[in-house]
Amino acid sequence: MSNLYIKGQWLEAEAGGLREIRCPADGTLVATVSEGTRPDAVKAIRAARGAFDQGTWPGTSERERGALLLRVADLLVRDKAAAARAESLDTGKRLVEAEYDIDDVVSCFRYYGGIAGTDAGRVIDTGRDDAISRVVHEAVGVCALITPWNYPLMQTAWKVAPALLAGNTFVLKPSELTPSTAILLMHVLQEVGLPAGVANLVLGAGAEVGAVLAEHRDVDMVSFTGGLETGRSVMSAAALSVKNVALELGGKNPNIIFADADFDTAVDFALTAVFLHSGQVCSAGARLLVQDQLHDRFVDEVVRRAELIRLGGPFDESAESGTLISAAHLEKVASYVKEGLAEGAVLRCGGSRAEAGELAKGFFYLPTVLDECHTGMRVVQEESFGPVMTVERFTDEDDAVRLANDTSYGLAGAVWTQDAGKAQRVAGRLRHGTIWINDYHPYVAQAEWGGFKQSGVGRELGQAGLAEYRETKHIWQNTRPQAQRWFSG
Ligand code: NDP
Repeated sequence: MSNLYIKGQWLEAEAGGLREIRCPADGTLVATVSEGTRPDAVKAIRAARGAFDQGTWPGTSERERGALLLRVADLLVRDKAAAARAESLDTGKRLVEAEYDIDDVVSCFRYYGGIAGTDAGRVIDTGRDDAISRVVHEAVGVCALITPWNYPLMQTAWKVAPALLAGNTFVLKPSELTPSTAILLMHVLQEVGLPAGVANLVLGAGAEVGAVLAEHRDVDMVSFTGGLETGRSVMSAAALSVKNVALELGGKNPNIIFADADFDTAVDFALTAVFLHSGQVCSAGARLLVQDQLHDRFVDEVVRRAELIRLGGPFDESAESGTLISAAHLEKVASYVKEGLAEGAVLRCGGSRAEAGELAKGFFYLPTVLDECHTGMRVVQEESFGPVMTVERFTDEDDAVRLANDTSYGLAGAVWTQDAGKAQRVAGRLRHGTIWINDYHPYVAQAEWGGFKQSGVGRELGQAGLAEYRETKHIWQNTRPQAQRWFSG
């Protein structure tokens, strides 16, 4: 197997390592891929360093780089069926969801390709007629891009597109569980003619390959998406050489339902908010906050509908939600539920593995609703990252805001009310990076995505998502230099 892409070559892992990728929905073998280790990561960093320091890429015009991103988008449209299928097999997610994901990947490349050359920096008014002052943007250098398993190609696109537009070179390390679409993307980058060494791919375990990328002195910037604990270790490894750091670490996101919300729509979205992709979404609305007087009726209806959700594999067209990514993750989700129940939560539905028929072959967990929860519980404070909704009650606007902000995370949240003024007031007071009003989940490549507090550092998407991959430089030119005679001698 030659799945490592380094300096324009497809290589085997130096130590000859291999890893089997199995579909989590039924355990079938999807692929056997190269498993890199430290020497492979170092080789890729050297390739990226060389391409940045001696190569032509950083010096190409931004418009040229943007045109290349647009070609990448076109090729991904061409390869959409293969990419979606690969994503479904690696993650176990429904094919239709994977197809939406690939559309979003294409939009991301189109967005960054489309803004190429629109921001040439600023000319500063110096107040002098003998000086020109400009603020310009440049590439940061060699970027380490470390991505998770829940939205493999999408999380990769959010990093690769702006990194390339800014003129960087990079080493990508996808989750060891879901490498297939990263391999596919590298083939596309090769096809569009990206110079050798600009884009490099190393597969392998996080603690082995990822850790090297985070700490290596020749890496200038690390952009990481994944869990909080791993994020902390990436940040501390990056501190050794004071790298630029961008972290997207997930959230525990409040979905606030006021009594005046449109009932059916709010119930419907409350389900999508948390049970989409079995809750394996950083912005999942896993915390349902319901106003007291609506609580019983609302939760009854949520439970009724949650019990009807059909689980199934990626190609089961009747399925509405899928499997968890792994046995270890299933165990983690189950243990959060168990602990929540021990702390006094009331189980309204779910609460166990789904094992009927074919589901027994995968890592399916029943959509679960835990009622009568409070912010003192771990299942409310920490990401279970599974199909687990916790329900809390609130009395009024102040109480809703207080509860919603009572978390160390701050990624996203939603407010449901027909009172526009209340919606805006609450949105303004929530300490989260994205707020939806009477909606849940939409995002666009043009708008920044990222978290307050421990949900991360920096932003992805939008202009700020590009800024993460740029250095800012001030260039001052004295056009009529004359001796100042500050010192008399
Ligand atoms: P991890 O944080 O373990 O992994 C994310 C990426 O980091 C993977 O590529 C992983 O590699 C790599 N990695 C692991 N250890 C290190 C290390 N020491 N140094 C550098 N890189 C490393 O996330 P998981 O994928 O296991 O998910 C765990 C939790 O993360 C979830 O339960 C959820 O809470 C959160 N999460 C948040 C996401 C978000 O969008 N914000 C997305 C996915 C997960 P490898 O896969 O080989 O271990």
